[in-house]
Amino acid sequence: MRDLNIIITLCLAIVISFAGSAEANDTDVIVVGAGMSGMVAAIEAADYGADVVLFEKTSRLGGTAVVAGGSISGANALMQYEAGITDDSAERFYADIYRLGRGEHDPELAWKHVEEAGLAVDYMDKMGVDFGDREPGNTAYDPFDVDRQYMAADGGAGYTSVLEEEVAARVERGHIDLRMQTKVTGLIQDECGGVVGVNVEDVESGDTAEYASGAVILATGGYAANLDLVKRYNFDNARTAALPHATGDGFEMAEEIGAGFANMDYLPAYPGSIPLPESPERHELSAEVEDYPGAIWVDKYGRRMSSEHDLTTGERQAVWAEAPANKVFIILDEGIRSDNASIIAGHDWERFEELLDGGVVKSADTVEELAEALGVDVSGLHDTVDAYNQFVEQGEDEDFGRSELEYKLENPPFYGIKTYPFVLLTKGGPTMNTNAQILDEHGRVIPGVYQTGELVGGANIGGQGSVGGLAHTINVVWSRISGQHGAAYAQQNR
Ligand SMILES: Cc1cc2nc3c(=O)[nH]c(=O)nc-3n(C[C@H](O)[C@H](O)[C@H](O)COP(=O)(O)OP(=O)(O)OC[C@H]3O[C@@H](n4cnc5c(N)ncnc54)[C@H](O)[C@@H]3O)c2cc1C
Repeated sequence: MRDLNIIITLCLAIVISFAGSAEANDTDVIVVGAGMSGMVAAIEAADYGADVVLFEKTSRLGGTAVVAGGSISGANALMQYEAGITDDSAERFYADIYRLGRGEHDPELAWKHVEEAGLAVDYMDKMGVDFGDREPGNTAYDPFDVDRQYMAADGGAGYTSVLEEEVAARVERGHIDLRMQTKVTGLIQDECGGVVGVNVEDVESGDTAEYASGAVILATGGYAANLDLVKRYNFDNARTAALPHATGDGFEMAEEIGAGFANMDYLPAYPGSIPLPESPERHELSAEVEDYPGAIWVDKYGRRMSSEHDLTTGERQAVWAEAPANKVFIILDEGIRSDNASIIAGHDWERFEELLDGGVVKSADTVEELAEALGVDVSGLHDTVDAYNQFVEQGEDEDFGRSELEYKLENPPFYGIKTYPFVLLTKGGPTMNTNAQILDEHGRVIPGVYQTGELVGGANIGGQGSVGGLAHTINVVWSRISGQHGAAYAQQNR
């Protein structure tokens, strides 16, 4: 025990001496990333009396929320009371999370979240976000058992525009030092593993510097634009529709300091992204995959994987997630083509023709030739089409119970489109405690480092499912917690 005390005293001394050494580059709290979550964290830490440096690697504030929808959710928000809903509670919200997320959340974090979520909505409300008619609603996903979702009138930009003004006011007062186009490249640790500062790089000049701080809050967003990380954790093949900044810098920094991670294998990707030669990684165009009549979906062995019809969003997503190499081939024929709206997003025939001419949509006179053109197992596709045509004839899909059995695949030319899943945001993240402190892989606090926003991992709070408005609520709940605790920790240890 005496040895442990000596180590703790020594570590504290190192923290204090490092934090106090570099006078120019020395602050209480460093916030990394000025998306919605980073702005809330910086505001909150500043309002708790800390001097804050807020680093943003791009030339604009707001991150992903600027292009996002406007949902946010919480029980017992003022707007719910105004609408006469007085019987919601943290318990009911928790029960919804349990149901919607299949119990894959961290119970302590989820409980803290549901307790704080209503206050988080009020926080944005009081700050001046325009919530339109202020009526609570339900979600486009599986619904809550009571209306507790609220929509910013201007979408996600409704939050960030208000936050930008609040940040600017604190910059003016000297409480936040905002450094744009400055990328944090790594965390600095003392000899005991505590985080005591960051390394930064000026994006334009390439100049580097060290900053010391009492606490660091990572608010760097997800990794959906980093297909190497997506490949490592989620899909062999995927495409991205995330904004380019979402490269998962915080995940890599957390990993370097030994953080634990949870729910990293969970990432609900969207189905049907068509790879275009001019856009090898970015998602630009989808196939119409929701109940498109006639078409079947096969894997690279030519096997069907589902009923294709009457699927929930999650079931459709699972087909693309579980297909070998995440490749799903959509097969149709001229009979379907001439009877129906185009299978290209927006039912755009002109685009279909372009893709056909460009060889993105393949066509062939026989099923076997189509299989060869697509790189699908020839006898596999042949057998699948034969069996499917038989199901149509008998009016019963013996393999998957498909309800729509209108078209036999028998009218050449046959058409095929290779598709992949595409990702928008990520759902796993470093483990943390209810003070938003990042934990190591043994569940111990790594001193001096906090996290918030998409980095936290929506699944760690809301489980493996879709909880309406969760990401924006995390941006407020966990930024307030990390800002407050980061400020207090920094002030105590300096
Ligand atoms: C199309 C779309 C619609 C959505 N709609 C909704 C919705 O209606 N409701 C909802 O709840 N959620 C929605 N979301 C998700 C939600 O908007 C995001 O998960 C959330 O806003 C992420 O916020 P963040 O601050 O954690 O990260 P981000 O917004 O990604 O911000 C991170 C910031 O950190 C900066 N940064 C990253 N690394 C560094 C570094 N090394 N150094 C310095 N700066 C760095 C980035 O440049 C960026 O500005 C949507 C997402 C998308 C893509």
